[in-house]
Amino acid sequence: MKIGCVREIKPQEFRVGLTPSAAQEAVAHGHAVLIEAGAGIGSGFTDADYVAAGAQIAADAAAVWAAAEMVVKVKEPQPGERAMLRPGQVLFTYLHLAPDPAQTHDLLASGATCIAYETVTDSKGGLPLLAPMSEVAGRLAPQVGAWALQKANGGRGVLLGGVPGVRPAHVVIIGGGVVGTAAARVAAGMGAHVTVLDRSIPRLSYLDDVFMGRLTTQYSDRAATAELVATADMVIGAVLIPGAAAPKLVTRAMLKTMKPGAVLVDVAIDQGGCFETSRPTTHEDPIYEVDGVIHYCVANMPGAVARTATQALGNATLPFVLALADKGWRQACLEDAHLLDGLNVHAGRLTCAPVGAALGLPV
Ligand code: NAD
Repeated sequence: MKIGCVREIKPQEFRVGLTPSAAQEAVAHGHAVLIEAGAGIGSGFTDADYVAAGAQIAADAAAVWAAAEMVVKVKEPQPGERAMLRPGQVLFTYLHLAPDPAQTHDLLASGATCIAYETVTDSKGGLPLLAPMSEVAGRLAPQVGAWALQKANGGRGVLLGGVPGVRPAHVVIIGGGVVGTAAARVAAGMGAHVTVLDRSIPRLSYLDDVFMGRLTTQYSDRAATAELVATADMVIGAVLIPGAAAPKLVTRAMLKTMKPGAVLVDVAIDQGGCFETSRPTTHEDPIYEVDGVIHYCVANMPGAVARTATQALGNATLPFVLALADKGWRQACLEDAHLLDGLNVHAGRLTCAPVGAALGLPV
């Protein structure tokens, strides 16, 4: 199969759909790989790296869209890219169609087969192509929060790990899923005192087992949240209610009880945020202050570490890329119900029930 990969054109997107090592695997499987010139630069991969992997370089995106039977990307196709999709072509990327009727309309009109990373499932009920980005954002959260806690950035001037004779910072993590667990690992590793709140008792039990006393768990209700937020140096928001906007668990009133210069990192901002005072920010201007509390609410946190994020995403997508290329999309989906869950659009028809329900379209 001819597999294509284009440079991402959405603003501030530095990841790339295929790494040189993924390209090399595809070539070893007998496929031709065509990469747009400069596609990997944001993630630190040169055209020469792709050539060494056996890929060919195309002068521009149009050449890739025209030649490729399957295009592998990161972000949803932008309007100009959608115009280049054609019937029978396979698109494998993040789509997030539910809140995006314009894109859905264009993909239906294209006649292409569009498989979305975010709806591919696994045997444990997880989302294996979303999890790597949650791992990245979770590990990054205490790192950016520690930076924001520094005096020059408006924070309380508290060192996460403390020093001998001086207590460490108290990091409160709301939501102990993929993001929360990764955040807990890094915060505890930096020496902070960590408390994780969750509504799921099995999840709290799991965290209690694996961290073996390195953190405290707490059932998440209003009273516990209010009490812990008031003592925290850093609060990390990491809740998810699938298919719903994030609940506002830290209210404006709670903010007034917080220590001056404490830091809120709202990782759940891509679902609207779980702090009442959160609003999306960018890597260029990541923090702002409300009632003396510093807020960090960057919606695409993995973009800060594009190279790591690209490699993590590539590791997760590669088996599916190879299955789609080796068997063709139809056979690959017939053999793997979890990949079939990723099929959102085929030949002018919507094929993903939750997207249809969200947009009021037939499936
Ligand atoms: P997850 O499903 O693995 O974990 C969510 C956890 O929240 C679950 O353990 C659930 O029990 C818990 N939860 C639900 N309601 C709760 C409540 N009221 N109180 C406490 N806990 C509650 O999800 P995840 O992969 O960890 O993702 C978390 C959030 O981070 C999502 O909104 C996701 O979209 C977001 N995210 C953002 C970025 C970014 O760049 N900002 C990157 C990746 C993920």
